[in-house]
Amino acid sequence: MTMLPYQDPSLPIPERVADLLSRMTLPEKAGQMLQLDAQPGVEDLVLEKHVGSILHSSPQRVLEALDAVERTRLRIPLLVADDAIHGYSFWRGATIFPTQLGVAASWDPAAAEAMARVTAVEVSATGLHWTFSPVVCITRDLRWGRVNETFGEDPYLIGELAAAMVRGYQGDGLTDPTAVLACAKHFAGYSETQGGRDASEADISRRKLRSWFLPPFERVAREGARTFMLGYQSTDGVPITINEWLLTEVLRGEWGYTGTLITDWDNVGRMVWEQKIARDHEHAAALAVAAGNDMVMTTPGFFEGVQKAVANGLVDEAQLDAAVARILTVKFELGLFEDPRRPDPVRQAEVIGSDEHQDINLQVTRRSLVLLKNTGVLPLGGGLECALDGRATAPDGSEPPPLRIALVGPNADDVDAQLGDWAGRSGQVDWMREEGHPRDMTETVLDGLEGLLPESWELTYARGADIGTLGPDPDGEFYPDGQPRMPILHPAAPDPAMIAEAVAAAQGADHVVAVVGDTIGLMGETRSTATLELVGGQVALLDALAATGTPMTVVVVASKPLVLPESALGADAIVWAANPGMRGGRAIAELLLGTIDPAGRLPVTFARHVGQQPVYYNTPRGQHGHRYADHTQDPAFAFGEGLSYSTVEYSDLTIAQPVLGRDGAVRAQVTVTNTGSRPSHEIVQAYVSDLVTSLTWADKELKAYRHVDVPAGESVVVDVEVPVADCTIVDAEGRRVVEPGEFELLVGRSSRDRDLLRAGFTVTG
Ligand code: BGC
Repeated sequence: MTMLPYQDPSLPIPERVADLLSRMTLPEKAGQMLQLDAQPGVEDLVLEKHVGSILHSSPQRVLEALDAVERTRLRIPLLVADDAIHGYSFWRGATIFPTQLGVAASWDPAAAEAMARVTAVEVSATGLHWTFSPVVCITRDLRWGRVNETFGEDPYLIGELAAAMVRGYQGDGLTDPTAVLACAKHFAGYSETQGGRDASEADISRRKLRSWFLPPFERVAREGARTFMLGYQSTDGVPITINEWLLTEVLRGEWGYTGTLITDWDNVGRMVWEQKIARDHEHAAALAVAAGNDMVMTTPGFFEGVQKAVANGLVDEAQLDAAVARILTVKFELGLFEDPRRPDPVRQAEVIGSDEHQDINLQVTRRSLVLLKNTGVLPLGGGLECALDGRATAPDGSEPPPLRIALVGPNADDVDAQLGDWAGRSGQVDWMREEGHPRDMTETVLDGLEGLLPESWELTYARGADIGTLGPDPDGEFYPDGQPRMPILHPAAPDPAMIAEAVAAAQGADHVVAVVGDTIGLMGETRSTATLELVGGQVALLDALAATGTPMTVVVVASKPLVLPESALGADAIVWAANPGMRGGRAIAELLLGTIDPAGRLPVTFARHVGQQPVYYNTPRGQHGHRYADHTQDPAFAFGEGLSYSTVEYSDLTIAQPVLGRDGAVRAQVTVTNTGSRPSHEIVQAYVSDLVTSLTWADKELKAYRHVDVPAGESVVVDVEVPVADCTIVDAEGRRVVEPGEFELLVGRSSRDRDLLRAGFTVTG
């Protein structure tokens, strides 16, 4: 059989694309632009709809789909896609990491890159080519259900971490067989919600987009993220899917982005049945193609609709060709025509959930924990040490004095809360809803403490309260488009018997560890919450525990910053563990016993009251008054906060040359002194304040940070550098500019003014 030009790997990709395109019929082009949900009968999608891609495919359906491709006329390989966003959640036994928000607390791009690399190695063995990750949205309103998927509230930190994930996924280039396509989502402004409600109208100006929402996307576009996903939201009445300014002028034009775009779930259909701006799929398809979309996710009606649109002259076939060419280009770049990268059972057995990956997971998880308060009760027993996989001992290897620990709370032994959203039982796919991941792969806090506590220590466990149970959505089982509605959480009432058992455990203990938070049903898409308080019997439980007078540590395992009751804020110690993934319980136990030191810092602000929403550190200046009449505006814990087990002082901030031109760099030094008796891992944060701006701007913005280990009793001089080119604002025309004048560099251990030293510098014109 003679080889056709598109099948010839020695030809340049553009030639192969052009040849293949010239052989494709209109239905084949329409199908190539479609990504459909791999339901039973997936072969039909390939053989009859000619789909270019499938998503949410069970292991069995991937094989059926790939086999079907062999029976097609042109044998165009499939792109198999899924949401492997903190590990491959929908593959039983894959390594599940902390959520993105948890990883963000590490402030460590290397941790984010390691998570993405492990994920890519695992998913590439399963036949997956594309993961819908990272999420590059900015957290604003904490009531939003998807806060856990973000890297928090700061555009600079988000950009650094998301770029690291792109590197991790895409490896050494797309021809690397362990590389998978990254997807930056949800472009752009999706998180600017109304009341935290998912995918509501994003009331956001172009200047605001350019100021804070677009920079992290630009960062990952330049890092080479091969695909971008367009969010559900509309701005100024225009769904993002057809926002030509954003797609054509900014993304393709200003940023020169050549990657492939994908809509979010049924965005094209939503223009018909939800937003009602197109009368049918023909018109919606025409709008989507004209706006420059490439792949259309889960709108089966696009197939017929776009063909009708071409036949009726609503859209030019050449516009389809451009989109199909971009999809084919990615397939050629991945080398799928030569090797469709089928699932490889031998590699799966080697790499999925391997010991090495579980170890990397533990290292990442350790970095994700944030110590928010400590009156000195932690570490328990004064700080222990631990040989690999053994029980903790005193630093000299001896058995420490006995201690009685009462472990209580609904999240002390809850796999689902620990793994978080997009993790098997979280509901998105039908083949894992019941059983989820193998139970023995996840260490809960109970497991972690049982494995690590010294032999002579006593551990009593009492759940103490429930959060709630999942039940049907009263609005019905299905959405108008036939998609199932997720069950919703029905809160539990405080249970006096459970509380009494926990109180008895606390009374008989030297220390209480209360693990509270939220769980599946209170997080994720369409699961925004109206409140931020602890749900179910948790507040009553904490109040009762506090009343016992036994010293207490509260560990918050929660998808987002929650509003903590006084009984928790008044506890002796507070630890935030986001959704810490499979190794979370182990890492938390290590932190409580001091076999590791706390190293994380908040990537997002904790409110004191839900009515403070939104509350974030880089709010633009100019508000009249700084408190509510009935409540403080001060958050419970601010961006950047987090303690170590030592005490640390920052002093002597100096700028070598405080008068600079626009092409200069602010070079500063600060002395960090560990005044305590344990080592401290410091994240030295550098913010810039532009003292007078031509338009309102944030009072301070994070511009750089450095990780430094400061041994007990020692001082370290830390260099900080901020290029003047980064000291920008966005002007009225939407341009990023440095405005000459007076600035301040603020350096310290959190975004709070009281934690920051200040030094002035001048930028000359
Ligand atoms: C979500 C995306 C996700 C997609 C596919 C959508 O509902 O918004 O983040 O990638 O579904 O699962």
